[in-house]
Amino acid sequence: MAIRVQTAPPDERKLSWWDRLYLPAILTGLRYTWGRLFKKPFTVQYPEEKIQLGPEFRGRPVLVVENGRERCVACGLCARVCPPFAIHMQAAETDDPKERYPAVFEINMLRCIYCGLCEEVCPEEAIVMSPEYDFVFRTREEAIYTKEKLLVDKKDLEPRLKWLEKMRNPQFGQRYRFRVSNNIHSVKARSMAAQGEETAL
Ligand code: SF4
Ligand code: SF4
Repeated sequence: MAIRVQTAPPDERKLSWWDRLYLPAILTGLRYTWGRLFKKPFTVQYPEEKIQLGPEFRGRPVLVVENGRERCVACGLCARVCPPFAIHMQAAETDDPKERYPAVFEINMLRCIYCGLCEEVCPEEAIVMSPEYDFVFRTREEAIYTKEKLLVDKKDLEPRLKWLEKMRNPQFGQRYRFRVSNNIHSVKARSMAAQGEETAL
């Protein structure tokens, strides 16, 4: 079967006398360059100067530490949803009201594609995308970020956490009358809350 190739109409690239002078295009370019000469430069001398990125930026995923403990309750949702299977974790039991914690939590940074799905599914906002974008590893082993490397204090992640609260849950307090007490997930924490005890979670 013959394949028909559509060619461009003959006049499509025909330049007028004015176009062929090229002068107007050169002058337009020069005018733009001249205009930029007296404006504040926005180039950054990276890596000496760091770029300040907004809270919407998705850098490497990290685990949130609150009151000296990781928020994670080892539900496994993030590992389940991660498209390239970058997360490996093992749950263990704890006497804390949250009952479970990740004894092992690792992210293979060679696999991570910064999609942010782990952050999106996490019921505790325990894993979030940090603003960190420049990190290096020289071997495959170094690319496995263990729990110690992943733990970051909540106060260092405030901009992202506030942004998530605003962008993900704008309806909280309006449609669902969200209360912090609704966010107590474990049976133990619920019974403690019912008895009026402080759960600190
Ligand atoms: S950002 Fe995406 S790829 Fe990276 S660990 Fe989270 S879910 Fe996996
Ligand atoms: S989804 Fe959140 S709470 Fe569940 S295992 Fe992942 S980080 Fe922990």
